[in-house]
Amino acid sequence: MGKRPAWYLWILAKLWKLSYIPPSVPILGKLVAGIRAQSIQRDMFNISHLPINAQVTSVSTPLPVVVLENIIRESDHRTIIHRCTCREARGCTSYDIHTGCLHIGAATEEEDTTVARHATVEEAIAHLHKAVDAGLIPFMGHAAGDNVIWNVSKDRPFLTVCFCCPCCCTLFFGYKYLPEESKGLFHRLRGITIEVDNDRCTGCGACVSRCFTQAITLRNAKAFHDEERCKGCGVCASVCPEGAVSVRIHDLETTTSELFGRVSQEVGGVPMRLKDESDAPAS
Ligand code: SF4
Ligand code: SF4
Ligand code: SF4
Repeated sequence: MGKRPAWYLWILAKLWKLSYIPPSVPILGKLVAGIRAQSIQRDMFNISHLPINAQVTSVSTPLPVVVLENIIRESDHRTIIHRCTCREARGCTSYDIHTGCLHIGAATEEEDTTVARHATVEEAIAHLHKAVDAGLIPFMGHAAGDNVIWNVSKDRPFLTVCFCCPCCCTLFFGYKYLPEESKGLFHRLRGITIEVDNDRCTGCGACVSRCFTQAITLRNAKAFHDEERCKGCGVCASVCPEGAVSVRIHDLETTTSELFGRVSQEVGGVPMRLKDESDAPAS
């Protein structure tokens, strides 16, 4: 298992460009829409975005750092993909294409060094900090296609932590074209609240154009947030020039235990726990 030729990431990025074809393009658009919907189905897909800007009332470290550091520490093995496929496919000029996805779990032992470097716990945590400090949005989860793309056993634990940019991520791009049932497989973390401060909002629309679920619209020149549609990614808060959007988590334990419950098997079947605040390093 695991072998990939040296040109694999390059050709993957070329093919990945197809995933940005909208359904309005004759023939190819419908084909891509079908593949997109097929790849995001129950029992095959399970992801959550982690808002980098969430203010957690009980800890000073940002949520993704708290959660992901603990998952990395508990993992059997981990790798860092040499390049982000989406950013390479899109020729991203805003974020580093070399900040690739982090893979966690026993199956990552099989990954070829042509596509990823095998990382120690400390190296993986350093990579996480670099990505979050650059403003990239982590999402973590598992899609059935991951094992095929990276050529690892499908019956061994394998979790992907991607560091997405609002400009290039194919999941952000493709979400609006998905059937409703597939949209439901993007899990909003329990306990996250997003609020818009109308006094600060100037109605510039930056959050509206960047929200991948169309959960923010302008009403009377102010941003209006739709709870039902929101997936809690925190992008709106990241892009607001006025600091008018806040992302809050009131009960970190509830939020993280739900997440850990969903991912523990993917990282090796080990029990997941949130370490004491005193164990978490400063951000
Ligand atoms: S999903 Fe995000 S991190 Fe993963 S390849 Fe795409 S943009 Fe890069
Ligand atoms: S409103 Fe949109 S951009 Fe903001 S957190 Fe929700 S899904 Fe993300
Ligand atoms: S980005 Fe900020 S200021 Fe602009 S519309 Fe959204 S909330 Fe208002």
